[in-house]
Amino acid sequence: MLSAIASKADTDKQTTYFRCSAGCPGKHSIYDVIYTCPICGSLLEVHHDREPLKQRNAQEWKQLFSSRASTTTWPYGSGVWSMREWVIPDLADENIVSMFEGNTNLFWAERLGQQLGVPDLWIKLCGNSHTGSFKDLGMTVLVSVVKQMMAQGSTVKAVACASTGDTSAALAAYAAYAGIPAVIFLPAGKVSTAQLIQPVANGAHVLALDTDFDGCMKIVKEVTKDNSIYLANSMNSLRIEGQKTVGIEIMRQFDWAVPDWIIIPVGNLGNISALHKGFKLMMDLGLITRMPRLVAAQSAKANPFYESFKNGFKEKNTVTAQDTLASAIRIGDPVSYTKATKAIAETDGIVEQATENELAAAAAHADLTGMFTCPHTGVALAVMTKLIQRGVIKSSDKTVVVSTAHGLKFTDFKVGYHESTLKDVTSEYPNPAVHLPADADAVKAEIEKRLGH
Ligand SMILES: *Cc1c(COP(=O)(O)O)cnc(C)c1O
Repeated sequence: MLSAIASKADTDKQTTYFRCSAGCPGKHSIYDVIYTCPICGSLLEVHHDREPLKQRNAQEWKQLFSSRASTTTWPYGSGVWSMREWVIPDLADENIVSMFEGNTNLFWAERLGQQLGVPDLWIKLCGNSHTGSFKDLGMTVLVSVVKQMMAQGSTVKAVACASTGDTSAALAAYAAYAGIPAVIFLPAGKVSTAQLIQPVANGAHVLALDTDFDGCMKIVKEVTKDNSIYLANSMNSLRIEGQKTVGIEIMRQFDWAVPDWIIIPVGNLGNISALHKGFKLMMDLGLITRMPRLVAAQSAKANPFYESFKNGFKEKNTVTAQDTLASAIRIGDPVSYTKATKAIAETDGIVEQATENELAAAAAHADLTGMFTCPHTGVALAVMTKLIQRGVIKSSDKTVVVSTAHGLKFTDFKVGYHESTLKDVTSEYPNPAVHLPADADAVKAEIEKRLGH
């Protein structure tokens, strides 16, 4: 009892803590095993008191972050930990589990932008990361906190998640790096081979269940009720703290000039909530003076957020998510729904959807200008194309598309597209390899046919 009181007093003094995202009173230590508000059941959020952060002015923060990015002084070279004071300020250096995540290329899509009529087009290549998706940004934070909890004698013995593929790859890698056991729940037969093999290779306990993602989520919630296994899904708001750095990093890369639009493919809605949270913090601390408009892009086969947007967010729609090429966003009951509605409402945002055919064409088109886009990035590009055609995104607008994973994790999608074998897709830009005899004349004739004179 005494120690509980002491720990409560400590939490009262903390300036970074969990609180209810719906506004119920109460502070909870981020080192406690707690995911939802004990009063109303809403998700928690990590809150940073603004006063201590205002001891540096906007210019000082910008300089500090820029001076740290990509350096070798532990742990500041990581894009996430270069903003440590805005993430989890009191983690001990030795408990930070980082593999230099973040600092990803903000790719100027010059040719694609010109072809689509938005020359100021940029693709944030979050898939150029340790496990090939933006999920690394959140997992470095979550696993670091777990490492500190374990060092302080917590009851936690392992971490667990349900996943559409990328979350489990990130959790398994960071857990293996830290030497913490990981339990992974995957919907059997619904993730790519590359995604499945990552946690297998990293030594995680991989359990493939005969259900979909939403079914896996129910099981993992049940299993983690016992506080010895720590829940690593994005309903754990520690993940959001890492993911929010992507928006701050984009601003640093633009020398703090705010883009007009940021388009992101969404499933469980943690990513867009995180983007919004980062921008809000920059506004509150004066680093920027306006918000970009956020666009949530959904697959038409798994579109509960789009349906909710259409009814003006009057109620939360859920759907049974259908089979989609954008398998990492095949989610019918998004956990961060309420946070994401705020992200859309407070940024004059939009939710739009793309069909299988649209997402595949958009991805293939982008690849022809030098990218190698995953199907989710295809969803975002297809949605952007619709908004350009509708005149919502103007030719002079500065537009960013968040590319959430590396295309190499989805080679079946690429191969199927170019061999014209994908379901619900008519390949517009197929470019299959041609098989020829090893004969110079035959080769010359083929080149002649293709390039002409
Ligand atoms: C997880 C994921 C998303 C969706 O992120 P949410 O936070 O679930 O909305 C999009 N694209 C890829 C590649 C992902 O792995």
